Amino acid sequence: MKKYKTLLFDVDNTLLDFSAAEREALKSLFEEQKIALTSEMEQRYLEINQGLWKSFEEGKIDRDEVVNTRFSLLFKEHGKEVDGVFLEKRYRTYLDQGHQLVEGALELAASLQNEYDLYIVTNGVATTQDKRLRASGLYPLFKDIFVSETVGFQKPMKQYFDFVFAKIPNITLEKTIIIGDTLNSDIKGGYLAGIDTCWYNPEQKTNQTDIKPTYEIQNLKELYNIL
Ligand SMILES: [Mg+2]
Repeated sequence: MKKYKTLLFDVDNTLLDFSAAEREALKSLFEEQKIALTSEMEQRYLEINQGLWKSFEEGKIDRDEVVNTRFSLLFKEHGKEVDGVFLEKRYRTYLDQGHQLVEGALELAASLQNEYDLYIVTNGVATTQDKRLRASGLYPLFKDIFVSETVGFQKPMKQYFDFVFAKIPNITLEKTIIIGDTLNSDIKGGYLAGIDTCWYNPEQKTNQTDIKPTYEIQNLKELYNIL
């Protein structure tokens, strides 16, 4: 008897290499705007963006505030006033095109889809995630896709998982596992929702939180040993 039946996969930096997509989009945006992108500026952008998404996960700000202020905050540090909403729009057109796969992700999903029920659980913008999943070839391998924007709640909120569980036919929590790279959203969310968790940690980051994943893997292939 198999341990699990329902597999919930995070998208960004679990199946799709979001960091690569972001780097490319940022480069394209700066090129288009004819602004020189220094490595220092790129690093600062990543810090600002990460801080805003963390506040979002903690429920302090909404998604619009995250995406519409990240560029204005960046340029403010350089004494420049920019239209954050406009730059976000341009950035998103580039980001929407980014669908670089994490190594082994497509093969993994393809080999698991017949024996398990695969679902996508992702925080993000519905149209963007949809396009990227389709372009990468992952889309048809999943039974359903749950994007926080459409759900109205985000990981790690229990309401997000309540919504997801209500939509999955005959779900058994004991036979469900979430696989994701972010302790604060994927693993914490899974824990709060009462399911097993698998932390995908390719960079072998130290866990500086009190969140304890059921499993930890460095390579997606290791998932076969758990299932
Ligand atoms: Mg992720």
